[in-house]
Amino acid sequence: MARISYDVVVVGGGPNGLGIAAYLAKCGVKVCVVEARTEIGGGCETIEPIPGFRIEPHAAFNYAGASPAWEQLELGKYGLRVVPCDIWGAAVSSDLKRVTVGGRWNKQVVRESMLMWGEDVAAQTEGLYEIMESPECREFLRSIYWTPPLPEGYSREPKDLPWVKAIKKVPLLSLVYDDSWLEMSTLDITNILTTTEAQKVGLCIAAWDSGPGFLSKGMGIVGAAITFLIMYSSGVFLGGMHSYAHATMRAALAHGATFYTNSPVEEIIVEDGEAKGVRVGGKGPMADKVIWAERAVISDTHVKETFLKLIDKKHLDRGFYQKVKDINLNGGSLMKVDMIVKELPRFKGKAGEFMDKHPGVGTVFPVDRLDVLTNHRKAVDAEFRFPRFGKDEVVLRTLRSSIYDPTRCPPGYHTIYNFWPLPVPEYYVGGIENYNKHKEEQVEGMLEMYREYCTNMGDDNIVAKFAMTPLDSSFRNMGFVGGNWEGIRPCDDQWCDRRPVPECGRYRTPIDRLYLVNQTSYPGGLALMAVPYNLMHILIEDLDLKPGGWWYPSPYYVSDKKVSSGDV
Ligand SMILES: Cc1cc2nc3c(=O)[nH]c(=O)nc-3n(C[C@H](O)[C@H](O)[C@H](O)COP(=O)(O)OP(=O)(O)OC[C@H]3O[C@@H](n4cnc5c(N)ncnc54)[C@H](O)[C@@H]3O)c2cc1C
Repeated sequence: MARISYDVVVVGGGPNGLGIAAYLAKCGVKVCVVEARTEIGGGCETIEPIPGFRIEPHAAFNYAGASPAWEQLELGKYGLRVVPCDIWGAAVSSDLKRVTVGGRWNKQVVRESMLMWGEDVAAQTEGLYEIMESPECREFLRSIYWTPPLPEGYSREPKDLPWVKAIKKVPLLSLVYDDSWLEMSTLDITNILTTTEAQKVGLCIAAWDSGPGFLSKGMGIVGAAITFLIMYSSGVFLGGMHSYAHATMRAALAHGATFYTNSPVEEIIVEDGEAKGVRVGGKGPMADKVIWAERAVISDTHVKETFLKLIDKKHLDRGFYQKVKDINLNGGSLMKVDMIVKELPRFKGKAGEFMDKHPGVGTVFPVDRLDVLTNHRKAVDAEFRFPRFGKDEVVLRTLRSSIYDPTRCPPGYHTIYNFWPLPVPEYYVGGIENYNKHKEEQVEGMLEMYREYCTNMGDDNIVAKFAMTPLDSSFRNMGFVGGNWEGIRPCDDQWCDRRPVPECGRYRTPIDRLYLVNQTSYPGGLALMAVPYNLMHILIEDLDLKPGGWWYPSPYYVSDKKVSSGDV
């Protein structure tokens, strides 16, 4: 039988696997992607549970506006379209008298909503725009997300950190920043930047839902930057999140990449300490075949799956194996309930009147109770139990993309993506086997909460509901260990070159020619195309790639060669 071989084999076709395949193919590398499921896309999935109604089981928000991949991979040319959202999010007070709306494209309405909280708050909003609209803000975001971690041996002095260099150039932020921020949590920084509880809750939720927990020390800059990441994008993908993965796949195909679906990798073959290829299992077209990798294997599966399942233990140092086992999963497991409704939720009170006139894509409620947010976090991340609705323990978050994207459902309907954090199934105090028994009670709690805030959330308005726990997420996508949208906990000891473990901090691993591209590597979750962009810096050196003029590296990238030659 003919030997099947490629320069590079990518295990898993999630957004990050697709991204690196597209980048490498564009460099002329012969690359294949081996995906376990019948469809590529990983967490970027859009499905039609009822014909004509599109929902997203996992990723739904677009955070990737500042990514270099848009231009570098020409995603627009391959079908990707973003619909700008006039009003991006609306956060509702517990007494329903006030609402804050956020978004990049309608300053006037944003200001009007902020005035409900006071002149000083409205003035702070002006500052937010000054920051967000500056080119330095995009550079600041790129210094965190689209920059590989610094190499071993390079200085970690504050003045040498990319985001410190970048923040010092951002209007307004540069005036208040000092190096003590490096030790702070998001809440600490929020306390410096904002005055009202609602602003604090808003920023802390953004951090927790899209990055580090808001109380995690040393993670405050990343947590605070997330609000800018969200605001910077302020748009939804036309047709749903899968269109993003699909465009990336088409970019890879256009440059000659090969895709194998229905092809679960069972083993990464290691010989003499080097990754040589993969053995495919299952019953698909590549079942029981070996695909050889002449230059590298790149894993887009969870770090625990890569090292604890796909590689024979005998190839790994015992200490390293244990370290991977011990990686903390806490902090990103989400309950998701999609609903099809005839009418958008009609919020009560003055908040409702404002939102009827200016409906935003996202909603958060209640937004003015830091104690509720803290209780929610304590329940799921510290006590490892389900939060209780009606007991001041849940802040509900939603996304209503159909307001701006008419392809999501037929006229006269809307789809709503509701979500809130739950404990990691593996850590749940009641035992993982009992986890899904709480599904219905969580859904009921959510509906009761809706009815408290809205006038029209009865059975006559709700056409269908689709609930998914983090445990369900992990069944759906074997990459989502713990159902965690970040893969692993984004905390100080699992961040930068310590993510997922120091031995793999620059995407290389203790196995030669094996690299990581999954969200469990830096900078973590979200379909940002950041892990593949960062990995490209390393591969350009290791594989001696010669990308064309389309490639530009991060200005903050420091190569290993520079450190070893002392030229830094
Ligand atoms: C509930 C939820 C909500 C989210 N919301 C958002 C959001 O709004 N916006 C956002 O940007 N991000 C969101 N995310 C996060 C986003 O989905 C992930 O960050 C992203 O999908 C990670 O991409 P990845 O390529 O690293 O991994 P994955 O998407 O997990 O892809 C890994 C791929 O590898 C495949 N695979 C695994 N094992 C094997 C094997 N042995 N052989 C072959 N193939 C294999 C899997 O089938 C999968 O296709 C959310 C995640 C969850 C769970």
